[in-house]
Amino acid sequence: MKRLSFLLITIFFIPFLLAAEVDLDEKIRENDISTYIKEGTRFIPLDDLARLLEARLSFGISEGRALLFYQNHTISLIAGCSDILVNGEIGKIEPPPQFIEGMFVVPLSCIKEVLSKLEVTTPKEEESVPSIEEAVGLSLRSPSIETAIVSSTASTSKKIIILDPGHGGRDPGAIGEYGLREKDVNLDIALRLNNLLKKRKELTVLMTRKDDRHLGSTSREDLDRRVKLANQKKADLFLSIHTNSARYNRWSADGFETYCPRSKSANYGSIDDIDITNESDLGVIIGDLNEGNVLEKSRRLASVIQGELSKRLLIPNRGVKEKNYFVLKYTEMPSALVEIGFICNRNMEANLRDPHVRQVIAETLYKAIIRYFQEG
Ligand SMILES: [Zn+2]
Repeated sequence: MKRLSFLLITIFFIPFLLAAEVDLDEKIRENDISTYIKEGTRFIPLDDLARLLEARLSFGISEGRALLFYQNHTISLIAGCSDILVNGEIGKIEPPPQFIEGMFVVPLSCIKEVLSKLEVTTPKEEESVPSIEEAVGLSLRSPSIETAIVSSTASTSKKIIILDPGHGGRDPGAIGEYGLREKDVNLDIALRLNNLLKKRKELTVLMTRKDDRHLGSTSREDLDRRVKLANQKKADLFLSIHTNSARYNRWSADGFETYCPRSKSANYGSIDDIDITNESDLGVIIGDLNEGNVLEKSRRLASVIQGELSKRLLIPNRGVKEKNYFVLKYTEMPSALVEIGFICNRNMEANLRDPHVRQVIAETLYKAIIRYFQEG
């Protein structure tokens, strides 16, 4: 009986589909979602839309592909492409989905039209149950990024970010089967990330290197300079960008991971005997000075990075790990070192060679950094 009366209401009193559209606008307002106007069109970030719809979302690693699983419907979108697949049927979305400030966005009125044609079940009256992602805080964005950054900088000075593309010059880092060099990938992603971050007036971005160079006559000096730049500038965040390599099972090693320091120290004194030419040896624990707050922030930074990457990369999430890499231990601010993927894996090497993939990675790191400050 209840069901019948509901049906009557929807048929005779409420134009149900229209109600769903209005509901979306309301939800955008209620949740303080940032939308973007570009050339007269209003765009909404796809992951915000998914959250409002309580839909599942997954991104492909290449070509900015996104799949939205909304109730029993599947919507496939590609950045820069006007074709949209709704339950396997091709349609048009104009202007196409695209990236704005690192976010995959869709034109709001078009997507509302697409949604209005779908059969959906009754919206729930009661408080919605948070998704797993929301439960662990991965996709919550309240207040919105825009307002959060403004409010967080209203009373403080600009945030200083140091981007550290690993290796350089005579140190190529890891090398892929087909010759792709880690130092080049790291630098390219860092430059792309720099381009995104420097557009934000509330941030100052500095790079430890902007071209293919080694920063010292020894590996120790090279790392020293990276750390000293960050400490002298009293940076708020230090992010070292690397690609990974495995000693064994090189072709099957896969996934991304982010490191945070186990301890912090301002004392460079006792490390002359450490072989810092070998990345794995940089993990030696030096001293045990625990600067809790900075360590905690470093861990949070690393987990935000992992969280954002896991939304965009369809490769294994290897998690947050603690390790006293030189640049993590001796920088005095929150720091993290991200290993984007295994360059020794042929698939990943091919992906990392693709400028579009590197752009997606840069955009994802951008989003993570913004979120880190927003939630800090
Ligand atoms: Zn490296």
